[in-house]
Amino acid sequence: MSDRVVTRFAPSPTGFLHIGGARTALFNWLYARRHGGKMLLRIEDTDRERSTEAAVTAIIEGLDWLGLSADEPWVSQFERAARHREVAEEMVRRGGAYYCYASQAELEEMREKAKAEKRPPRYDGRWRDRDPSEAPEGVKPVIRLRAPLDGETLVADRVQGDVRFPNKDLDDLVLLRSDGTPTYMLAVVVDDHDMDVTHVIRGDDHLTNAARQTLIYEAMGWDVPVMAHIPLIHGADGAKLSKRHGALGVEAYRAMGYLPQGLRNYLARLGWSHGDDEIMSIEQMISWFDIDDVNRGASRFDFAKLEAVNGHW
Ligand code: GLU
Repeated sequence: MSDRVVTRFAPSPTGFLHIGGARTALFNWLYARRHGGKMLLRIEDTDRERSTEAAVTAIIEGLDWLGLSADEPWVSQFERAARHREVAEEMVRRGGAYYCYASQAELEEMREKAKAEKRPPRYDGRWRDRDPSEAPEGVKPVIRLRAPLDGETLVADRVQGDVRFPNKDLDDLVLLRSDGTPTYMLAVVVDDHDMDVTHVIRGDDHLTNAARQTLIYEAMGWDVPVMAHIPLIHGADGAKLSKRHGALGVEAYRAMGYLPQGLRNYLARLGWSHGDDEIMSIEQMISWFDIDDVNRGASRFDFAKLEAVNGHW
């Protein structure tokens, strides 16, 4: 892994740059600046049906307007599919993954069985040790991770602390689909490794994924980056943040005449603080910001406060 701090912002281009995404980008950008490193932008455009060019443009323009541009040209995850496939096959050769020929009907049966036994569905490992020569004719396999059956996986998170996941709950997840396309879980690990990412700072909705991704890093013998999962932003009423809380896309605030430094200042205070300082210049944020000081609890979006902070600038 690189000696220099490398962070990344990895949005899926399925909509405009929203408040939560902009805050994630800001924390990544600040952390990289604080440590003399760089922030990269990876557009996670593997879902071809939901990804749009307009969203890619909105994300890049939103970041530029906020003064949070990436330090290198952006990377398309979709364009790296051949590399993802290569790593999945390498994992099979190393024994960390295997071809699975289970049919949809078999998988459905496993789901039904789990439902009847009132437990989460889990792939039952029927192809873990079978020879692919037993494969049914004409069936295209998926590649699955050979997850350890016992023990636990530790995510030593810089925000959440040490979080342990029993391996039996992590499942033999699919890495490569039968059409040869990678799953999110595989693509993220391969890209973060290849892009020399040292610090993964993202929303805590990805915490369980971090455990699964750790298993992939381990299977490849790669260093696991430092993880920091930041709590999601909620509305003032505690519900998941949405438009009805006055939370809009970055471009909407821009169109309404908000100033980039006002929005940036407000975003910095969502889940992080420096004493009682409400108003901070970008230089102050860079010299004060640290992921260890990010709160563990969800932060609340407060429209009146955003107005007040923006008014200051
Ligand atoms: N593309 C994912 C998302 O938009 C983020 C993946 C990550 O940061 O690892 O939620």
